[in-house]
Amino acid sequence: MKIVDIETFAVPPRWLFCRVVTDEGVVGWGEPIVEGRADTVRAAVHELADYLIGQDPLRIEDHWQVMTKSTFYRGGPVLSSAVAGLDQALWDIAGQAYGAPVHALLGGPVRDRVRIYSWIGGDEPAEVADAIAERVEHGFTAVKMNGSPAMAPIATAAETDAVVERVAAARAALGPDRDVAIDFHGRVSVANAHRLLPLLAPFHPLFVEEPVVPELAAQLPSIVACSPIPIATGERYFSRHEFVGPLAAGVRVVQPDISHAGGISEVRRIAAQAEVSGAVLAPHCPLGPIALAASLQVAFATPNFLIQEQSLGIHYNVGNDLLDYLVDPAVFEFVNGFVQRPMGPGLGITIDEDAVRRAAEAGRRWRTPLWRHTDGSFAEW
Ligand SMILES: [Mg+2]
Repeated sequence: MKIVDIETFAVPPRWLFCRVVTDEGVVGWGEPIVEGRADTVRAAVHELADYLIGQDPLRIEDHWQVMTKSTFYRGGPVLSSAVAGLDQALWDIAGQAYGAPVHALLGGPVRDRVRIYSWIGGDEPAEVADAIAERVEHGFTAVKMNGSPAMAPIATAAETDAVVERVAAARAALGPDRDVAIDFHGRVSVANAHRLLPLLAPFHPLFVEEPVVPELAAQLPSIVACSPIPIATGERYFSRHEFVGPLAAGVRVVQPDISHAGGISEVRRIAAQAEVSGAVLAPHCPLGPIALAASLQVAFATPNFLIQEQSLGIHYNVGNDLLDYLVDPAVFEFVNGFVQRPMGPGLGITIDEDAVRRAAEAGRRWRTPLWRHTDGSFAEW
């Protein structure tokens, strides 16, 4: 079998899909994307295609090595995301060629179902209790919300109180048997993190995510030390090498994104690396159906897996949502906050190619929101 063509499709709401075609008619799909940089990643995918076309798609690890190392320069979100999407597509092809779901090729299932969580609120959650009630009604046992809007480098008492009140409201609405995770999206300074995290601990969040921006990894030991809440991070780390420092700092939940951190091949390795530190895997996935399908394949085959993010109804999904590009959306049916094991070969989904081609004609140039502090200076989004 040989790879004969690689196509890319930029589709709403803000996704990029790749389609890897073989001479035997087997087709694999992947989702290579950096949100807001779809065209940049797309260029990288087509540069990598120069090498892949003509190759045997089943030599996944060798292709991964060549794609990540052969241009001498390493890493970064654009290359790692391009490789990630192609890696997903190669695993999809392998599963179809061997007649097995990807998790079977990874050693077989280690659990019967995968717990997922749902986002509540947008960037600035307000009606926390109402949103949680609606999610609980749909069976979810865990939700995630943004912890704060843009925050001053040293927060006022009112800003701090507002965060605590929101988390308290979430806990009150959820009761003791469900979970809330708090995503700070890197909006909190180190000083604010030191003040806030002990105040949030009484409400027992599942984890606090990205309390600080990823480039402040050297500050994580002091943040871990001040927080009884498990610290989660990793959606903006792109290889196992970038997880060495955070894991040594005591991060207990790693969140690589299967469309950014080198795909199924690398996320699988990051999970094993985290296991050595007693940390668990909770893959980032605010993206589309291929990224979720790939994430679930890893989740079913990974012992130290915690919970999976998914984007159904998320505030980013304007125009199109998670199920719109699937022939059979039932594969992602959520029952009591869990997803059942996909039994189809490869990634276990069938992409509606016509829907993708139609959507790609319309396209959508999604851009990351630009936030500013009250004095006009740049603020983390
Ligand atoms: Mg996040």
